[in-house]
Amino acid sequence: MNISIIGTGYVGLVTGACLADIGNNVFCLDLDPRKIATLNEGRIPIYEPGLADVVESNVAARRLAFSTDIEASVAHGDIQFIAVGTPPDEDGSADLQYVLAAARNIGKYMEGFKVVVDKSTVPVGTADKVTAVIQEELDRRGRSDLRFSVVSNPEFLKEGAAVEDFMRPDRIVIGYTDDHDGREALGWMRQLYAPFNRNHERTRVMDVRSAEFAKYAANAMLATRISFMNELANLADRVGADIEAVRQGIGSDPRIGYSFLYAGTGYGGSCFPKDIQALTRIARDNGQTLRVLESVEAVNDEQKRVLTNKVLARFGPDLSERSFALWGLAFKPNTDDMREAPSRVVLDVLLRAGARVVAHDPIAVEETKRVLKLDFADAPALLDRISFTSAKDPIEALAGADALIIVTEWKAYRSPNLERMKALMKSPVVFDGRNLYEPATMKDAGITYQGIGRNSL
Ligand code: NAD
Repeated sequence: MNISIIGTGYVGLVTGACLADIGNNVFCLDLDPRKIATLNEGRIPIYEPGLADVVESNVAARRLAFSTDIEASVAHGDIQFIAVGTPPDEDGSADLQYVLAAARNIGKYMEGFKVVVDKSTVPVGTADKVTAVIQEELDRRGRSDLRFSVVSNPEFLKEGAAVEDFMRPDRIVIGYTDDHDGREALGWMRQLYAPFNRNHERTRVMDVRSAEFAKYAANAMLATRISFMNELANLADRVGADIEAVRQGIGSDPRIGYSFLYAGTGYGGSCFPKDIQALTRIARDNGQTLRVLESVEAVNDEQKRVLTNKVLARFGPDLSERSFALWGLAFKPNTDDMREAPSRVVLDVLLRAGARVVAHDPIAVEETKRVLKLDFADAPALLDRISFTSAKDPIEALAGADALIIVTEWKAYRSPNLERMKALMKSPVVFDGRNLYEPATMKDAGITYQGIGRNSL
């Protein structure tokens, strides 16, 4: 099938590359000429495991192309995926300007039947707005005879495992309108996704509004589990319980399950924070307060400070004589995404309290340098107090440190040489925001260890 993807970011590029990989002809559009130039030079602008190979082989097979040419993009795809960003507006609601601009371009240039797919995460009712914008353009052109239908097909991939998730989805949600054009659009979508449904049917067909809602509901549920465990972990610290043992104690219940029950330094990334905000905003706009979700967000904001609160409690408010090693910058492993990363809050507190920091991350160093310039625009001199390394062995970052602070659970941090750790550091203290180690093992190694909710207040 001929597919156009509007927006070649994390979601658009993965969607485009994977749909090309199963045999479709895919045209990826982006308005950012640097991004398109990078892709056309054979480089990938983001880090995502396995993505480079899929892109390379499909470009070579001439099934995947990148361009800034809007008219050519609209002409190419019978199915037009809108995969542009939906960042939070000032009031927390999703900013639809990019989605609606993409829709307007479709209306401006389309010449035949188009299936328009909302892949971006968008508020309930957005498909109606997209429909109205396209129709407005068609009417303006005097081409009201042209047919199209807007489908909601939210994306559930996880950064860090995006290709794998796209290729083996748990479910494919398709929201369609039950009229003549909508049924035709549904037929096209079923055909497109048929290769993913060979062993069992993964497609969940529903009305458009429910599909739009389902994406927010999924992220809200996951974020709720995280904030729930984080709040209990903080209580565990107070009452002398071990949240890891508690997790084992509840996860075996199939109604609860183990996943997304890890206590830590709070969730970050491009999706949970903005989607939780957007959903609470949608509720408020409709006269309802989502009290659980508003608390989920408040708990998360505080949780990003739990690690530095422990650091300040130990070393006092003035850290100007202190030096810290920090392991992990990306908001989670296997990505270079720094959007809303808890490490940014940790660095903000440490650097503004005068500390020196040696930060290690296998992938996200360059992206961190970029975002820190923005975070410290008011005090750029503080950035002289941080240095970075992506060394294969992260232990080198520990030399002379007053403490190690772990923010992201990269595999490279899982089994360090504890003797070397102790020998290298000025004082052997570890603040572990991801509960990577057993407190008893650390104690035996002579290392002062504070996890999250592990009886270590
Ligand atoms: P992104 O910022 O990485 O990419 C968006 C791209 O769209 C940018 O490259 C931008 O230049 C381009 N763009 C903006 N307006 C355009 C236009 N009119 N025409 C062409 N290109 C345009 O964003 P992302 O992380 O891929 O997210 C996209 C959407 O998918 C968001 O709604 C997000 O919530 C949702 N989503 C993201 C993830 C994730 O893990 N990143 C997962 C599921 C859903």
